[in-house]
Amino acid sequence: MGFSHLEKYEKDFKPVSKSTNHRAFYNGLYEDMLMMSTTITGNTVVTRRYALRIKTLSLYFLLMVTVPALHLHAEQDTLKKARERMVKNDLKGRDITDKKVLSVMGKVKRHLFVDKGLQNVAYNDYPLSIEEGQTISQPYIVALMTQHLNLKPNDKVLEIGTGSGYQAAVLAELVDQVYSVEINKKLAEKSSLKLRELGYHNVNVKQGDGYLGWPEYSPFDAVIVTCAAKHIPPPLTKQLKEGGRLIMPVGSTFLYQTLTLITKVKGELKVEHISGVRFVPMVGEAEK
Ligand code: SAH
Repeated sequence: MGFSHLEKYEKDFKPVSKSTNHRAFYNGLYEDMLMMSTTITGNTVVTRRYALRIKTLSLYFLLMVTVPALHLHAEQDTLKKARERMVKNDLKGRDITDKKVLSVMGKVKRHLFVDKGLQNVAYNDYPLSIEEGQTISQPYIVALMTQHLNLKPNDKVLEIGTGSGYQAAVLAELVDQVYSVEINKKLAEKSSLKLRELGYHNVNVKQGDGYLGWPEYSPFDAVIVTCAAKHIPPPLTKQLKEGGRLIMPVGSTFLYQTLTLITKVKGELKVEHISGVRFVPMVGEAEK
């Protein structure tokens, strides 16, 4: 009676022999272990596959970031060298002696003011096409005109013909306030945006006929006109301060002109002829 429950157990669960019982038990255990290891191995494979994928992706990402970055770095380096060469050969090598002007010409990135396709020639010794059939002057002419203005840090300068905004950026590095008038709407908008984007917050661009100057902000310490007319617009000399300077290409608008420097001395205009130049014509009022 005492063992009857055991006997029942053996009767219910005992298979043919004790040894068969053990084998079944170990077989079950083995199968369980096999399943577990498959799961673990399966996970490991998946984890490894993910790890591999992440590694490959990271490598691609690294290449995607570093290759263009290295390329950009090399490009920046080439442009910097070209800019330095321009300052040395085309400016210092000629008659640009003003240290501030030389330093600014070595600093302002002319290539950012021209089309991508022209960036590699941005520091060459010639004018370049910008949009709307207009041109950005040869770096030497930009430096020469700027040098003749004899600028001081507190000066307020008026530019006529903003174009790409490059000359305005050069001026903005040297003086407190630059006011620039551009007759072409598209160019006025584009250059204004570009100058703001590059951090030149001391330049104000307006679309209008520069023949009339910008009376609201006059008088100006200096005026620079980067388009040619047959005569100097009277509103511009009127808006020039006593002792102020104005530089402008004057002469035939389809051939060569004379770079002319005006200094206002006791209300009188002193005229100097600097050199022969070729600029795009001033349109609008100047043509009448
Ligand atoms: N200084 C510019 C280049 C000027 S090209 C630069 O650094 O890029 C000459 C510019 O004068 C052109 O953009 C042209 O549209 C503009 N222009 C012509 N007649 C004008 C006028 N009456 N008033 C203002 N801008 C004028």
